Amino acid sequence: MNTTDALNILGLEKNPSTSQIKSAYKKLALEFHPDRNPGDPEAEKRFKQIVIAHETLKNPKRTERHGAPRTRKSARQRGEYEEKWEDIFSHIFKNAREPVDEKKVASRDLHAQVEVTLEELTGDSEKEISVSRRVRCASCEGSGFEAGARVGACQACKGAGEVRFRQGLAELWVPCSACNGSGEHTGLACRACGGEGVTSRRESLQVAIPAATKEGAQIKIKGKGDEDARTGEAGDLGVTVRSKPHPVFRREGNDILLDLPVSFSQAALGHEALAPTLRGARSVKIPAGTQSGRVFLLKGEGLSPAGGRNAGDLRIRVIIETPTRLSERQREMLAEFQRISSPSTHPRTRRFLDKMKSLLE
Ligand SMILES: [Zn+2]
Ligand SMILES: [Zn+2]
Repeated sequence: MNTTDALNILGLEKNPSTSQIKSAYKKLALEFHPDRNPGDPEAEKRFKQIVIAHETLKNPKRTERHGAPRTRKSARQRGEYEEKWEDIFSHIFKNAREPVDEKKVASRDLHAQVEVTLEELTGDSEKEISVSRRVRCASCEGSGFEAGARVGACQACKGAGEVRFRQGLAELWVPCSACNGSGEHTGLACRACGGEGVTSRRESLQVAIPAATKEGAQIKIKGKGDEDARTGEAGDLGVTVRSKPHPVFRREGNDILLDLPVSFSQAALGHEALAPTLRGARSVKIPAGTQSGRVFLLKGEGLSPAGGRNAGDLRIRVIIETPTRLSERQREMLAEFQRISSPSTHPRTRRFLDKMKSLLE
């Protein structure tokens, strides 16, 4: 890496002072520190560049200070030196990975469920849900420590404010992420959050549910997951939409299914039935001679997504109910009815008997 690239990476003007280099490096190295960006390959790349840029700018001065020989390092030696970078980085990233609970980081996204009725799905609706989220502690601003109680040195860096890594010829230091490079540590855990830096808070949120939302669909609410103690960045909240079971309707895609019981005599004589729909009752004409299982379609009475495409229908399936608990008189009338029935009264039965006869012959 040449000096110009290194200056660019650290965002510095030409000929920066040692303290300018140091403060730019500290700021950027902490921002892209592997502790704070676990499993983020983009941050990892930036972090490596920042460290190398810093070393590039720092090295000539260090050689001067230590009175190094004026002869320049041979190309071979420089090559060896640079090969060590990856070794050192592997230590830094290994260190970073160990104390961080990756599961915890990944789980900044929260999940919740919301139940909606089929009636609510006929239009756009809003539902209120209650979510318990972890938010950055307001009294310690996520540090986990009681304000104004700085005592002693940071344990992670032994008060140095930086952590040194050495591998063969190469040695570099990285600002300590545990104490933000300050080297200080306070002994008192924040009383409000018990030192966690975050507290749990129950919040009511409004979820907008579009008409005809599919069962199990996820609605994402950005920034309503858990907050990170250090950065305050929040994950997202994924809300799964569940349909409340309906006492009479079933949903199939955007269609709504209804089983409509009709008495045996109504089906035979014809009937004007009152059928429920998602938008109120409607009368349905059951023509004389309707068979069990026949489906009547009420166009557009299902669920309709916004834009009017794929509008669903209400499919009413007639279920003929056989009469039970007959009175004496009803029994007599039905017996009489049966006596005077001819095969033409029941064409389906006749067709079946004909087929059976040919099988038995
Ligand atoms: Zn706190
Ligand atoms: Zn430290």
